[in-house]
Amino acid sequence: MFVSDNIDVNAKGNLTIGGIDCTELAEKYGTPLYVMDEDLLRKNCRRYKSALDNFCGGNGLVLYASKSFCCKAMCKIAAEEGFGLDVVSEGELFTALSANFPAERIVFHGNNKKYSELVFAVNSNIGAVVVDNLSELETLNGIAEAAGKNVGIMLRIKPGVDAHTHDFIMTGQIDSKFGFALETGEAFEAIKAALSCKHLTLKSLHCHIGSQIFEVDPYEYASAIMLGLMKKVKDELGTEIPGLNLGGGFGIKYTQNNTPVDYEKHIECVANAVKNECAKLGLNVPKLYFEPGRSISGPAGITLYTVGAVKEIPSIRTYVSIDGGMTDNPRYALYGAQYEISAVKNAASPRSKTVTVAGKCCESGDLIGKDMQLQEVKPGDLVAVFATGAYNYSMSSNYNRIPRPPVVMVSGGSSRVVVKGETLEDVIRNDLD
Ligand SMILES: *Cc1c(COP(=O)(O)O)cnc(C)c1O
Repeated sequence: MFVSDNIDVNAKGNLTIGGIDCTELAEKYGTPLYVMDEDLLRKNCRRYKSALDNFCGGNGLVLYASKSFCCKAMCKIAAEEGFGLDVVSEGELFTALSANFPAERIVFHGNNKKYSELVFAVNSNIGAVVVDNLSELETLNGIAEAAGKNVGIMLRIKPGVDAHTHDFIMTGQIDSKFGFALETGEAFEAIKAALSCKHLTLKSLHCHIGSQIFEVDPYEYASAIMLGLMKKVKDELGTEIPGLNLGGGFGIKYTQNNTPVDYEKHIECVANAVKNECAKLGLNVPKLYFEPGRSISGPAGITLYTVGAVKEIPSIRTYVSIDGGMTDNPRYALYGAQYEISAVKNAASPRSKTVTVAGKCCESGDLIGKDMQLQEVKPGDLVAVFATGAYNYSMSSNYNRIPRPPVVMVSGGSSRVVVKGETLEDVIRNDLD
């Protein structure tokens, strides 16, 4: 009935997440409210970890892409589950280190890292910096030398794979701000340059071919292209690069129309494709890295809202306004992202009304979705939007000076706040007279 397995309806007819009645959560913590199911987060982590252990014989590491949902509690969970961590800014790195995330398992991404961010990363002894361009390579080598350290790096390569996804979130093509292009020879030159940097160690090549992908083939295809490059490096430069990072991007079920590949199957197929290709090319099987973000955090989250105004425009549409919007979930405004929604009470009753769910910002584009199916609701009713665990809290803003909602985690039938909601005092905390 619902897009995530952890959502159900109890005897009272109320929606539950991880077995907890959503009306109780709303009463206790208010709305809007982000709710994350810790048990599902951990289960998702374990599925990836055991798949990688099974199919890569332990020669692999799953890195959680923290940008999808980053806070100290989440970093702690990822650490406990034996994951590595992707960070893309000093803010995410600081969060991870504050949660005592093991630095050697942290990988730092980004197309334009600041000098101070690179220094912070080197001083923190993180596992690897994913170098995006030649000037960064040179800068990082200098920082490593000055610090008297040898720094692990990966190189971000654009393999030119079209992963049939939304243009805005496509990053594998040549026309992308990320990384070195393969077809132009730029990637090979970058590898040569990296191997000549005395204070850097090239641990892995990296590619990330897009997001919300439902097929395995683009990953198999990308891995073959990357291994082809590794073979060329072996033949012409006499070096075998020991790792291959195939990024994230595994799709999740936002609506009943989405059919994600099962993660275990996915890892198995890609790992086998890599093994076969290596055998063909005479390469050692590299250490494999994956970087799931959305598929770990997305399905684990829901957002609870209270309905305000309900506006029926005869023969046009019905607007159901909720007490949040693009400030806590900008994804419809950004990409036209699709979600499902339900009333919290009588949650099992058919969602027979077609409504447009609007936020409270002064912006016509501030919608959670157009033409969504929902039960009949009236002001004061609670509604839940599903699969909001990824790229919602992490993309939230204070537009219109709206305080960010708290994040509550549920586990084993109890709940706790893991990120406090902002207060009005928080909204003005950096203002000066
Ligand atoms: C965004 C991103 C990810 C995570 O993508 P998901 O779609 O959330 O799995 C992984 N690696 C890199 C380099 C990214 O930019």
